[in-house]
Amino acid sequence: MMAVPWSALERFFPYPSYRLYQQELIRFVYKVFADGSIGIIHAPTGIGKSVSILVGWLAAWQTGNSGRLLVVTRTKSQLEIYARELRRIKECSGLDFTAAVVKGRQSMCLQKWSQNLNYRDFLSVCRRLRREGECKYYNAVYDERGRASRAAVSALKMAAMEGVASADELRQVCSELRLCPYEVMKLHARYADIVCGSYNYALMEGVRGALLRQSLHRLDIVFDEAHSLPEYAAGLLSDELTTTSLSRAQREITTYEVDDWGLVGALQKILSRWSKNVYQNYGLDREALVKRDTLIEELIEETGTKDETELLTLVQGLIDEGDAIRWRRSLQGKRAISYLASCAEFLQAWIVHTEPYYVRYVMALEDARGRRRGLLGLRCIDPSIAASPVINGARATVLMSGTLWSMDYYIDVLGVDRERVRRLNIPPVYPPENRLILVDTAVTTKYEERRPELLKEIARRLTEILEVVPGRVAIYFPSYELMKTIMRDVETSRPILMERHGMKHEEAISFLSSSHTGLIAGVARGKLSEGVDMVENGRGMLKAVIIVGLPYPRKSELQEAISRYYRQKYGARARKYAYELPCLTALAQAAGRLIRSPADRGVILIMDRRAATSFKRKLPPDWRRGMKAYQDLRKIKDEISNFLHNIN
Ligand code: SF4
Repeated sequence: MMAVPWSALERFFPYPSYRLYQQELIRFVYKVFADGSIGIIHAPTGIGKSVSILVGWLAAWQTGNSGRLLVVTRTKSQLEIYARELRRIKECSGLDFTAAVVKGRQSMCLQKWSQNLNYRDFLSVCRRLRREGECKYYNAVYDERGRASRAAVSALKMAAMEGVASADELRQVCSELRLCPYEVMKLHARYADIVCGSYNYALMEGVRGALLRQSLHRLDIVFDEAHSLPEYAAGLLSDELTTTSLSRAQREITTYEVDDWGLVGALQKILSRWSKNVYQNYGLDREALVKRDTLIEELIEETGTKDETELLTLVQGLIDEGDAIRWRRSLQGKRAISYLASCAEFLQAWIVHTEPYYVRYVMALEDARGRRRGLLGLRCIDPSIAASPVINGARATVLMSGTLWSMDYYIDVLGVDRERVRRLNIPPVYPPENRLILVDTAVTTKYEERRPELLKEIARRLTEILEVVPGRVAIYFPSYELMKTIMRDVETSRPILMERHGMKHEEAISFLSSSHTGLIAGVARGKLSEGVDMVENGRGMLKAVIIVGLPYPRKSELQEAISRYYRQKYGARARKYAYELPCLTALAQAAGRLIRSPADRGVILIMDRRAATSFKRKLPPDWRRGMKAYQDLRKIKDEISNFLHNIN
């Protein structure tokens, strides 16, 4: 491939100057797209990754060396960044391209009932409405020959005039024209040169095909925040079921007089018994493995079905019954939900997935009101099953993040074709003196050493440390359980937001905006430690990030099953892949909430002595260099005070 002159690249760059290493990044991206390879990019916050990706791709596109571009991100805020950069490029370069920034069908839907359902329930009803010709918004998009209606064509023209159609704007236009926004977006995206959306648009073949109508090998795909791809890809093939859902399914069975042969009741009984045992042996939130056949055999016995085939037929029948319940409820103007369908879908997956990369577990949980619940899980432990065909099958792929500390890990666990890989590792761009990295060596959350007194000591130290930080703070814990236990004993007058399962980023941002001393308590790998941009007026909102303990994956039978699988697949690298790298990534992500712009300064405190000993060697050089470790709390407080005092 011939080297491209810089002038061919920079004509699309919409800013007066480049950030450090940004030109290198743009050149690299161009090469990846131009020669159809797989680029893995570690690039820290602040380098301008999104605009660089777009500029590099546009240069390849202009010279006929590209496919269509699909950029996928984890969060809405990242999507908005791409929309903003695309508009800016269009304005500055005058280039004639079309782009679509797509959201999910449910969030674009105009039906009033659509927003308070879970996605499966929503999709089931939406599908049926379309099939039966009962959605007026859908009907208005197509004429009798299945082509775009006049109203849809005028919405499409507006989108084309804009050049960059965003989901929210298109929804607004479509709501005035009474058209299904998602269908119109699909029509627009079909011909767009660039499409930005969630990971599902890349990883789920059906969703991707319906949106882009393009075979994979003609697409260039960018996975932004790719450090989260292994977990996301495995999660797509995983599912969970709780005793709460089963109780609700049982109520549905009574209300709608469904004959389920006693299946749901039997499953409820089995799960309650199993989770009670797990609680007695391991306590809350710890997964214990169960065998596929154990559940199936018990269910066959309880329901009187002949064999696995008959059980599966029964389950399929219940999925259909659940679908019918959703439909009946929607016609009655009720929430179109069916717990029966969800339970049956879970069971179906449990039965049909026999591959060695699936594990099954049971766990005891506590709900928000402290009531004990049982949970049954089916987990895919090999992310490459969902990710590899997409990454390798695309014409060119970019995996990019600020925390791809070990590229080989991602290559292996995602099943990336090494022969096609190009790597770019960009060093930190913010001055190292902007952050103080401290380790509190008096404490640890190491499982074997965890005692109530030690957790109380962590709380006491946190109480004192919080007194010397003059701004907002985020504290991240290895688990919900530890967060609740330790935070109970932390004494502070600061407003506190404690992370809950499924919490939205927006809640954290609005909480921090409302208080200059706000304290966020979250969990590593949770919603508040990854992908959330805690920024106000272009500056980071936090003065300190405190990481309590090293966020290793919790020891459990499930984690051991993952290690065993990795040992078979990756040999000596198994421990590194199953424990160390997930821990490092979680640590980097949590710490990454602190410095969001060149002007930000703040403190990262790791409260675990292991961070100053063997674990330190695993950290990147820029972390190791300035790290200070103390056992004496007074010294830690002095360091924090001096550092934050000097910057105030
Ligand atoms: S077809 Fe469109 S408007 Fe109708 S239910 Fe589905 S998403 Fe909503």
